[in-house]
Amino acid sequence: MGILIIFLSHWFISLFFQTFFLHRYCSHRMFKMTPFWEKTFYMLTYVSQGSSFLNPRAYAIMHRMHHAFSDTERDPHSPHFFKSVFGLMWKTKDIYLDLINNKIKPGEKFQKNVPQWEKFDKFADKWHSRIIWGAIYTALYAIFATSWWMFLLLPIHFLMGPIHGAIVNWAGHKYGYVNFRDTRDNSKNTLFFDFLTLGELFQNNHHKHPSKVNFAIRKFEIDPAYPIILFLNWIGVIQMPNKIKTIQ
Ligand SMILES: [Zn+2]
Ligand SMILES: [Zn+2]
Repeated sequence: MGILIIFLSHWFISLFFQTFFLHRYCSHRMFKMTPFWEKTFYMLTYVSQGSSFLNPRAYAIMHRMHHAFSDTERDPHSPHFFKSVFGLMWKTKDIYLDLINNKIKPGEKFQKNVPQWEKFDKFADKWHSRIIWGAIYTALYAIFATSWWMFLLLPIHFLMGPIHGAIVNWAGHKYGYVNFRDTRDNSKNTLFFDFLTLGELFQNNHHKHPSKVNFAIRKFEIDPAYPIILFLNWIGVIQMPNKIKTIQ
């Protein structure tokens, strides 16, 4: 029971910060927040992703490239150019590292308004930070695991961020139904109720309306992150004006 709680908490909390902060805020600027809250969510994203923290700048640039070149050869992670999800993950990792190491010079539109906190990124990207998080996960398993096979779940904790990305990038452009046929890509809505990735698997809806905060569009679709974002707006942590200029 303890391990189940640890696993599900890590899965959904890190997923929330990925979709809320890295995707909807850093990449698309769907809502506004003050510098104080931006730094707070930056740190919370680090804490929740831990050993697999994804640099917000690199994430946002890569994601904007994904929208601009979706399912073409210039897309950083289209599943249609790989035999397996591992090939896709490897290529995504290469492009991500090239962005971190400034080996790719993205155009202005890809890096405009991307939050950057260089000092923090340097610390978060260090191996000792990643290893300490890995040790924390391992220690929690050592305390709470009641059977040896539970330790097989540990690699998922180590790579939580990239695993979420791989599920969305692979399944979301390969499996499911389509609401909009004019998106010029292979984006799909994989689930009606996206309990697995908190709304990220409504790729077809999202590619059609990249600035819409709610990824669910039809009556039977549920984006579980949306009510939380509405709540953050209601209590004044973020501002969701209707006409913020968002980046596609
Ligand atoms: Zn997509
Ligand atoms: Zn997007």
